[in-house]
Order: sequence, then C-alpha cells, then structure tokens
Amino acid sequence: MKILDGKEIAENIKRNLTAEVENLKNTTGKAPHLIVLQYGEDAASKSYAQRIEKNCKKIGIEFEYQQFIEEPAKFKACLKEANEDDQITSIMVQQPLPPDLIESLEMINPKKDIEGITSASLGKLFVGLKTLNPATAEACMEILDYYEIPIKGQRAVVVGRSNIVGKPVSILLQQRHATVTMCHSRTRDLEWELKQADIVVAAVGRAEMIKGEMLNKNSVVIDVGTNFVEGKLLGDVDFDSAADKVKSITPVPGGVGTVTNQVLMRNIVKSFKNLHEIK
Ligand code: NAP
Repeated sequence: MKILDGKEIAENIKRNLTAEVENLKNTTGKAPHLIVLQYGEDAASKSYAQRIEKNCKKIGIEFEYQQFIEEPAKFKACLKEANEDDQITSIMVQQPLPPDLIESLEMINPKKDIEGITSASLGKLFVGLKTLNPATAEACMEILDYYEIPIKGQRAVVVGRSNIVGKPVSILLQQRHATVTMCHSRTRDLEWELKQADIVVAAVGRAEMIKGEMLNKNSVVIDVGTNFVEGKLLGDVDFDSAADKVKSITPVPGGVGTVTNQVLMRNIVKSFKNLHEIK
C-alpha cells in the first residue's frame, strides 16, 4: 500500500505561486487581493479564515477580512463593493450563511469567485469551459495526477454529492474519461458500489464510515473527509482498516486538505490574472 502524501504537492504549488506572485508584482505593480466575508460568529469559519490569511501572507497575497453580525444589509453592501472594487481580485464568503443570505452567494462576480461556487462558475465547469473550479475537487485531481494514477477508462466511485465537492469532482473525473458512479445517503448497497471502484473519492462528512473491508484491493482512495472527533481530525475512510487493503490512500491530515489550501491560493492568483488579462 502506498500513502498519497499531499504535503509535497502542496509545497510545490506554494513554491511556484510565491515566485509567480513576486513576478506579477514586479510587472504590474499590483498584488492579488482576497477579501473574506463572514456573516455570524461561527468559530470554525473564523479559524479557517485565519489559516487562509497565513497562507496568503506566505505567498505575498493581500488579505482582508470583514465580519458581520446581524447586519444583512451591510453584508450585502460589502459584497457589492468588493465586486466593484478593482483592488479586490478575489472574494470568499464563509459558510454557513443564514438561509435568507444563501442567495447572496450568486452576487459574487464569477471572475472573483475563487471557490467556484456561483452557478455561473459551476455551469462553466459543467459544460467544460475554463473557469475557477472548486479547490477541493481540483485538489483530488491534482493528487491523482501527481502520483500518475490512470483516470481514463477507470471506474470511479464518488461518495457524496455536494455542490462543492462530490458533484464537481465527478465532472472533473468524467472530463478525464473515467466512468463515474455517484453514491449518497440513499445508495442501496454502498459496499457493492465501492467494490467495483478503481478510484474512490470519499466526501461524506462521517468519521471513518468507510471501512477497509468495503473496499477492493486494487483501489486508489482519495479521502476528502475532515471530521473532528474528540479533538482529533479523522477522514471519512477508516485509515487503519483500509491501509493494508487498498493499493493507495490519502492520509487525513496531510492529504486532500493540505493540497486544497494551496489550490485555493492558486485560484486567487488565477483570478488576478484573469481580471488583468494576463496569460
Ligand atoms: P455535505 O454537503 O454534507 O454532503 C455530504 C454528502 O454525503 C451528501 O451527498 C450525503 O448524501 C452523503 N452521505 C451522507 N451520509 C451518507 C451515507 N451514509 N452513505 C453515503 N453517502 C452519504 O458534505 P461536503 O461539504 O461535501 O463535505 C464532505 C466532507 O468533506 C466533510 O467531512 C467536509 O468537512 C470535508 N471537506 C473537506 C475539504 C478539504 O479541503 N479537505 C473541503 C470541503 C469539505 P445526500 O446528498 O443523500 O444527503
């Protein structure tokens, strides 16, 4: 069994981006600039924003954070301003949002939509046009490519059908000619589906739900899950029981999440280049 370590991939992306941002600053006199908007007081969202800030600073990306508590009109006005402000090249709206503000995500200028969450971004992904793809979905592909895992003609089973992970990764896999099966909470026999897979992408949000005995020995397992249980970060796959039963597997932590952090940084640089029409 081989561990598909994400740290080396993330380091490579970070190194390249640091050089690229330096070069962009020298040639344009400007820097990529991210604004993160948070509505409410969710502590996990706040600490995620702080982690993004650190990653931005290391690469040379400008970072700005605005928090709103029970001020929906101000939140929307800030989002509108961020769309119109030429200095701000990337926008990220922290979730969860209250139900009556979910639609405001659609206000994000697709060119600044570094999470690829607007229907415009997802629509382009769906029809195969160049766009900013959701970072986690792209990180899964990055890992498969880095370890030269064949995708074309392979059977991929994606567990989870969220708009931000399961659906986009299924589209990226199909674009690369995998035969994709989508599984979810109503799938009749998940174990049977998993046993057919050459590639498994687990994006469920249930700690260690997928056990080693449910997987086939030739499968490559990409574990997207990040579940905190008693202060410990666990994947959706039970790593200990799966590790000696599959061909290769991503660890949690140190796998998809680590790569996602840097793919998000790369999306920030891409949005800057798109807005400035730099190839
Ligand atoms: P989500 O929106 O909650 O979606 C979960 C999906 O899992 C749903 O489609 C659900 O099916 C399915 N599901 C739930 N129980 C199931 C079961 N027993 N069997 C089969 N499918 C089941 O989650 P998400 O936002 O995609 O996140 C998934 C996981 O990835 C979470 O642990 C999250 O923290 C993690 N995540 C990690 C990263 C990263 O960078 N590493 C980024 C984003 C998310 P239904 O549609 O039928 O309800």
